[in-house]
Amino acid sequence: MKQIFGSFPSRRICFSLGVDTIPFKTCTLDCIYCQLGRTTNKTVERREYIPADTILREIEKILSQRGKQKIDYITFSGSGEPTLNLKLGYMIEKIKKITSIPIAILTNGTLLYSSSLQEELQLADLVIPSLDASDEDTFKAINRPHPSLTLEKVVSGIATFSQNFQGKIWLEVMMVEGINDSFEKIKKIGEVIKEIKLDKIQLNTPVRPPAEEFAHPVSLSLLKKAKTILGERCEVIAHFKKHQEITSKEDIKDAILTMIKRRPVTLEDISSSLGIHLNEVIKYIGILQEENLVTSRMYNKKRYYSFAS
Ligand code: SF4
Repeated sequence: MKQIFGSFPSRRICFSLGVDTIPFKTCTLDCIYCQLGRTTNKTVERREYIPADTILREIEKILSQRGKQKIDYITFSGSGEPTLNLKLGYMIEKIKKITSIPIAILTNGTLLYSSSLQEELQLADLVIPSLDASDEDTFKAINRPHPSLTLEKVVSGIATFSQNFQGKIWLEVMMVEGINDSFEKIKKIGEVIKEIKLDKIQLNTPVRPPAEEFAHPVSLSLLKKAKTILGERCEVIAHFKKHQEITSKEDIKDAILTMIKRRPVTLEDISSSLGIHLNEVIKYIGILQEENLVTSRMYNKKRYYSFAS
């Protein structure tokens, strides 16, 4: 199952079966806090990057084999911006025909200005766009967008979509120390999002190793203050406690090494045990292999990783 991951317990949407619709780090943005590293293909071109029928076959297989596995949402997210896949609407429509599990879309919201994308998302149950800035300079500093994107275009796209969408919309705001965390900027975000019809605002901060070392998380107390500024629908979702033990690249490497010293494991085993995305696991396994700390071998058509003692 290359395009499907989980289901993982996620604080935000309970048990989520992730669906990846695009190649690694294909995105409209290059956020300084991105936990997958820098964007390697910055684009706004919608294409069928991964064939929709391949993804649908994988979903069907997982659903037919899942037994008692809990899935609260089928979530389009993954290695970059899922709405870049031109067949997103087609996939949502097909999934709706085979299961009643609700569908969520985790998106950076930058392509919601497209009326055809707005139409495609109408059958989704939950859309979670993100918005981290209330002025153009901050947008460029934190999200490093594709040159064709402006904050005004993005906000107006999310706002128009929100007026017609029948499902729920939760807006995520990622707060980065020294970039968008002043009270003035938080208040201005509050003003900008008045145009958007929202069910929730979710405040987050980078608790995992970011693309850029200078993208530091803000404190929990600052997030709580921001919550009071942004009002009742706002909640803090940054999970400091859960990630306290795994907050640096070295911690993640150590956690992976601890696992593989115990027994040979697959990439999926590491991903589900540590609750980190498969692509992140691939990145760290690559580093550990370069350091000659990990070896791998095929067994029963699966690749297992073990400690290179
Ligand atoms: S955080 Fe999301 S939107 Fe930003 S670069 Fe990474 S994948 Fe793209």
